[in-house]
This record gives sequence, C-alpha cells and structure tokens, in this order.
Amino acid sequence: MKSKKYPSRPYRGRQERVHRIRAEVAIGRRLPDGCEVHHVDESLSDDCRLVICQSRSYHRLLHVRTRVLKAGGNPNTDRICCECKRVLLVASGFYGDGNQCRDCTRKRQQEHLRRPDIQKRRRDYERKRAASPERQRYMARLMARLSTQARPIADEEGN
Ligand SMILES: [Zn+2]
Ligand SMILES: [Zn+2]
Repeated sequence: MKSKKYPSRPYRGRQERVHRIRAEVAIGRRLPDGCEVHHVDESLSDDCRLVICQSRSYHRLLHVRTRVLKAGGNPNTDRICCECKRVLLVASGFYGDGNQCRDCTRKRQQEHLRRPDIQKRRRDYERKRAASPERQRYMARLMARLSTQARPIADEEGN
C-alpha cells in the first residue's frame, strides 16, 4: 500500500500521485478525505485498474482478501497466518480475530513459559503465595478438614 514508490506530478497546485489524479479525473472531483486508491493488480503501471476505497481499513481489507486469493484460499472463509503463512479456515484455525494461527499461538505461549526469566518469576510467585498468611490459614483449614473426614471413611472401609 505505502511501500511502493508511486509516481507523482504537479496537479492543481499540489504534488499528487498519478493514480490519485486518475481517480479524481474519473469521478470528476477531488477525492474525499480519507479515501485511498487501490491498484487491482498491485502494479505501478499507468493503466492499472483502480478501486477507490472509502477508508484505509477497507483498503487494507482488499489487500488481505487479495493475499488469501493468491495463496489459493477463499477470502470469505480463510485467513493467512502471519507467522507460518499457512492458509487456514478462520473458524477452526484461529482464536477470535487474531492474525496468528492456533498452532503458532500455542507455540509462542510455550516458548514464553520456557523462558528462564518467566520461569523464575513463576517460582517466585509460587513461593510468595505459599508463604502468605492467607495461604497458610487455608492449608491449615484444609488439613483439619481432611483429618476429620479421614476417620469416618476409614471406619466405613473397615466395616
Ligand atoms: Zn492497494
Ligand atoms: Zn501459524
């Protein structure tokens, strides 16, 4: 979208990119604010077919859909994982509207948990939690309940 160097020239007192001038000539007036012009074949050629998009998000959507199509997928049901680049069904391959597939998301989470600093933080947290007065009171209550429950069960088993 913005990565290419589109040719420009002076037009009505301003320097304007040629494809925007073509779009303005086609609609016979200045492009409304926020409008973007999409190149259908994504080329820089002067006669490339253009689509006037009402917003950047719509323009982005066209590019996303084009990428899925080029990858052999169906833009209505598929999405490309930004990490492994596989074309997968949105419904089963992704969590919500994430750009990373489920496999890649899980892999990243596991890698995160394996990091030494994260493991140390978890150990510290567990230690602190185990040492907290609330936790010790809870454990004491739990042990007391278990020991009172243990006898009747043992009796039943004995009968
Ligand atoms: Zn475009
Ligand atoms: Zn992936």
